[in-house]
Order: sequence, then structure tokens, then C-alpha cells
Amino acid sequence: MIKLLIFDMDNTLFDTYGQLGVHVLDRMIEKMKKHGLTSKQEGVMREKYMTTGFRTVANMLKLSEELKEIGKSTYKDMDLSRIKPFDDVDLIKEFKQKKILVTSGTEKVQNEKIRILGIAPLFDEIIVDLYGSSESRDKIFRELLEKYEVKPEEVMVLGDNAEAEIAAGNNLGMITVQILRRPFLKGKADYYVKTKNEVPIQLIDDILLELDMKNMEKVLNLLNRDDQKIITTTERTKLPEIFSCDRVFHVTKKGHISW
Ligand SMILES: [Mg+2]
Repeated sequence: MIKLLIFDMDNTLFDTYGQLGVHVLDRMIEKMKKHGLTSKQEGVMREKYMTTGFRTVANMLKLSEELKEIGKSTYKDMDLSRIKPFDDVDLIKEFKQKKILVTSGTEKVQNEKIRILGIAPLFDEIIVDLYGSSESRDKIFRELLEKYEVKPEEVMVLGDNAEAEIAAGNNLGMITVQILRRPFLKGKADYYVKTKNEVPIQLIDDILLELDMKNMEKVLNLLNRDDQKIITTTERTKLPEIFSCDRVFHVTKKGHISW
């Protein structure tokens, strides 16, 4: 059973890329080019900035202190006033679990985004991760496990960054959901969500009849009850009644489908 939900904010709860990122990045690059940013460095920044953030890409490129300062001040001065959450963010209210927002970046900017988006009441706790790496996320997630007295398998992590929250969640054995609203790098996650209101689907492909009732139940208890499940089987059985299926499809030899 899932007891704790950990949400990322940027590109998960609002369109950071479309509403802020592209504009800030252009302005940053324009200013930095006047102070020596090369075309090669510009290419790397354009490729990496959206998923890693400025600090990580600046360290990766070993930028001079002067260029880092230009980047940081452009970032801090960006106009946040028109940002809006994705229109399905309100659904978070419906979840009964404890909900934690773990977001990375400068404390002042992240807190201002949270204030303008009006999302603070949706969460039991808000943490700003100043480093944004998988190591810092790992440390924060471990602290949350201890504080809320939950096991990793009782925690679901939802975020877009394969190298930060998703990697940390995977390493700790949490359930990970990568949010792919923008075509960012797809990483390794348990589930992927591309559009709003999309519920993860689990496919149990013809395995249940191999098991006795006790083991069948064990398998089904491992699965989250709230997810959509598709169970396939080759024999007429009592499975639909046992698992209270919403709809049963019959496929005949000739490929005819009825329900
Ligand atoms: Mg993010």
C-alpha cells in the first residue's frame, strides 16, 4: 500500500520549460556569449539546462566564476508572475496519502514559484533541495522514510528528472513515475505518464492460472489496487468474479471480440 507520495515541482506540476525555461535560457546565453561562452558550451547548455538546471550544467562545463554569476543573476531576475500549474494539479487533493513536495533550485525562486502557483496547501511538507542531484535527493528521501516511518515500497515518487528524483527513488526501491509532459530524456521508471489524468496500467499476462489461489492472491496483493489492471487468460475461469473486473472481453478463435 502506498502511504507517501513525493512530488517534484518543475515540469511536473507546471510547465517550467514552456513558461520560464526557454526565455530564461535565451537571455542567459545572450548575455554569457558577450563574456566568452563558446558555441560548443552553448550547445551543451541548450541540451542539458532543462533537465539538470543551471548549477549542474555550469559545473559540468567548468564555466568561469564570471559566467556563473551572469547565469545566476539572470535566473534570479526572471519574471515568475505569469506561471500557472497544469490544470490536473488539483487532483492531488484527492489523494489520501501524505504528500511531500521536494523541489530543487534556489530557495528564494522556488518559494516564489510555490507562492504564485498557490500549491502549498496541497502538501503536508515542502522541501527545497539546494543541490538537485540524485545524491541530495537520496539523502532527503532517506530522511523522509525515517520521519514518516514508511518502507521504500510504500512510497511513490513522481517527477520528470530521470537523473535526480527518479534515480534516487529507484535506488531506494520506491515506486517511480516519470512525468513526460515534455519529450525529455526518458529514464528508467516503474511507470510513465505523458498526458493529464493518465492512470498507470498493469498488465498481468496469462500468469495467474499457473498459480494456486494462495499465490495468486499474493501476486495481486503486490499490485496497487488503484491502478488499471488488464488480466489475460486462455481459460474460462472465475477470475472476473474473484477480482471484480469492470469489464470482461471474450476473444474467439476467429479474433471476434465481445463483452
Ligand atoms: Mg522537475
